[in-house]
Amino acid sequence: MIYADNSATTRTKPEVLDKMLPYFTEHYGNPSSLYAFAYDAKRAVENAREEVAKVIGARGKEIFFTSCGSESDNWVLRGVTSKLRDKGNHIITSCIEHPAIMETCKQLEKQGIRVTYLPVDEYGSVSVDDLKAAICDETILISIMTANNEIGTIQPIREIGAIAKEKEIFFHTDAVQAYGHIPINVDEMNIDFLSLSGHKIGAPKGIGALYIRSGIRIDNLIYGGGQEKRRRAGTENVPYIVALGEAARLANEHMNENIARLTKMRDALIERVLKIPYTRLTGHPTNRLPGLCSIVIEGIEGEALLLNMFNEGICASSGSACSSGSLDPSHVLLSIGLPHHIAHGSLRLSLGEDNAVGDEIKIAEAVEKVAAKLRAMSPVWENGKPVWEE
Ligand code: PLP
Repeated sequence: MIYADNSATTRTKPEVLDKMLPYFTEHYGNPSSLYAFAYDAKRAVENAREEVAKVIGARGKEIFFTSCGSESDNWVLRGVTSKLRDKGNHIITSCIEHPAIMETCKQLEKQGIRVTYLPVDEYGSVSVDDLKAAICDETILISIMTANNEIGTIQPIREIGAIAKEKEIFFHTDAVQAYGHIPINVDEMNIDFLSLSGHKIGAPKGIGALYIRSGIRIDNLIYGGGQEKRRRAGTENVPYIVALGEAARLANEHMNENIARLTKMRDALIERVLKIPYTRLTGHPTNRLPGLCSIVIEGIEGEALLLNMFNEGICASSGSACSSGSLDPSHVLLSIGLPHHIAHGSLRLSLGEDNAVGDEIKIAEAVEKVAAKLRAMSPVWENGKPVWEE
């Protein structure tokens, strides 16, 4: 099997697993306990905080552990809007955010918060001019993802941060797909809040963090005990926090070599699959996540594509089906201007550290084979082209 779905999740790295295991059975103390036996757990949590912070040029005390990226996203949107209710009731985001942002925004709208969803261009990039035009006196938060999970486009985070700073508006970025994969510096980019998740960088599923710039207070999402400096209650998930710290350390250490290797493999994959007629790249051609190749293949359905790819031994995903079972193409593909009938044939191939050089060729061969097979039986494919072509 070739796993080409690293944007969905990654394998927990063996080194990460080794590091976390003793915290289940040996150092199982509660970090809040006062006796020496619990110090190991406490120390491990604080070490992990430092490692997680280092990746984005932050300080350990600015990292708050959460249960996942979705919790971090919920926390910042709800926490800022409730804390700053007296200051304003308007937030700005983009129309291609992850559901963790989109669905939270919908809930906030029900509570009277006004949300502007910035459009994106054909590559999925937000325009800085659109952002400037959307800002008003009531704006209290800008939340724009660092990189998109479906099409890999990296947003102009530095420019957005500069505008937010100039206008004295808080800036949050959902960096779940970008953290540990591309360089981010919260100070240089003027980022006030940043969401990240462990399972995209080789830690287990179910651990995340929110970076909150020192000096900023927002309301809690989870109230209770005094953990995480009273800002996120719940006994710390020590083994998972240790895992996140180790995964962050490794990601930081190997970031440059990973970027170089994955970009090369990604570009070779893109070049090859785009030779299939009536196939196009989605997302920005160069300003995109190193391992992510996303395409649409006209005349076929994403679901059939995935099942057939799996039969060829390749795990991949498609943006065309949403989890509710609806057959609507994803909001991301529609937002970059793809018509429904074309967006249906979407395929996301995301390479990661475990992929060997040469996988990109095997993956491309499987895509060619499956595309030919499905087109041969497609009702919308005739004489070597889709029926909507003249
Ligand atoms: N934000 C983005 C951009 C994502 O890609 C994901 C997960 O795929 C999330 C948020 C949610 O993260 P988690 O799965 O840790 O809740």
